[in-house]
Amino acid sequence: MSRVLIVGAGLTGSLCACLLRREMANKVKIVVWDKSRGAGGRMSTSRSPSNAACTADLGAQYISATPFYAQIHQSFYEELLAHSILKPLVAPVEGMIMKEDLRDFVTPKGVSSIVKHYLRESAGAEVLFEHHVTRVCQKGAGWEVHRQGGEAETFDAVVLTMPVPQILQLQGDMRSLIDESQRRKLEAVSYSSRYALGLFYEAGVRIDVPWAAKYIADNPCIRFISIDDKKRSLDSPDCGPSVVVHTGVPFGVRHLEGTREEVEPLILGELQKVLPGLPQPISIKFQKWRYSQVTAAVPDCPGQMTLCSSPLLVCGGDGFMHSNFDGCVESALKVTEVLKSSL
Ligand SMILES: Cc1cc2nc3c(=O)[nH]c(=O)nc-3n(C[C@H](O)[C@H](O)[C@H](O)COP(=O)(O)OP(=O)(O)OC[C@H]3O[C@@H](n4cnc5c(N)ncnc54)[C@H](O)[C@@H]3O)c2cc1C
Repeated sequence: MSRVLIVGAGLTGSLCACLLRREMANKVKIVVWDKSRGAGGRMSTSRSPSNAACTADLGAQYISATPFYAQIHQSFYEELLAHSILKPLVAPVEGMIMKEDLRDFVTPKGVSSIVKHYLRESAGAEVLFEHHVTRVCQKGAGWEVHRQGGEAETFDAVVLTMPVPQILQLQGDMRSLIDESQRRKLEAVSYSSRYALGLFYEAGVRIDVPWAAKYIADNPCIRFISIDDKKRSLDSPDCGPSVVVHTGVPFGVRHLEGTREEVEPLILGELQKVLPGLPQPISIKFQKWRYSQVTAAVPDCPGQMTLCSSPLLVCGGDGFMHSNFDGCVESALKVTEVLKSSL
């Protein structure tokens, strides 16, 4: 039985694990490693430090399907709707560019519930967090994969799903494996950068605004605010509201190397201008998205790039398509095709 390592438990990695499990059930042993403490990647749902039942989505906010993707990915949407992981967006969003033919969904249990669903569906896969891959070296007919603070392990095939700049940072044989044309393509990828704050409030606190989320056009720092529980149409009496704030990209880029101590007060100061009188939260989560959304994908490699076909080393993720649910689904489908024909 072939051992396949999937690096990254974000949407692309978890869906690859699920598809591989469904399509090659007993032919592969699937292992997923992620450097974080939990699943989700940029589809992460953060818990309030003071009450784990209260959550906020600090990365992706909505799942929006164009008619094209609603049709070609119909089975994925139907599955998530059937499990109540997706629900139509009904709460009012101000300033959103409404496209009539776009179908918008929210995730009542938080956006990471999509990723967790696919990991659950990969029954039998070994999913390990706090496994930070540092080096990939060819060893015989397989790959020896090294990680921070742990033993290296050998796999028959490896799938890399992290943002492309993080793929390029890997040590070992990566330098010699990537040919000049592939390197040029990988280096052509670009991402936006932004910060996100999650503000958690005591139960009973009310935030009186007529919207559930709002795009801000005229602030030098803040681009988007969501009353996250309202956006997801939640009604949990034990939790107070949770507010998500995204900065704009120019602010994110300008302060990219800033520390939390430097950047958080700037965002909170601007938030008071946008929403004067906002009460003091009981806790705040701070997130720097160095690689937020893809602004230029890897050219001419729809969904995946195969760095080595034997033993197989393949990269996928939104960097090879575009930054949303459908971009990741498309990439996971392409990576799975390559795995199926190789193993
Ligand atoms: C602020 C923000 C808002 C967004 N809004 C939306 C939205 O509204 N709708 C939408 O559809 N999409 C949105 N997106 C985009 C969407 O979140 C991404 O396209 C998607 O989550 C990418 O998934 P992925 O699995 O390809 O990559 P990731 O989610 O980045 O997953 C990669 C995983 O690899 C892990 N990793 C990285 N390096 C290593 C290593 N060396 N060793 C082990 N593990 C490693 C990371 O921890 C991560 O979990 C948004 C993203 C951001 C940041």
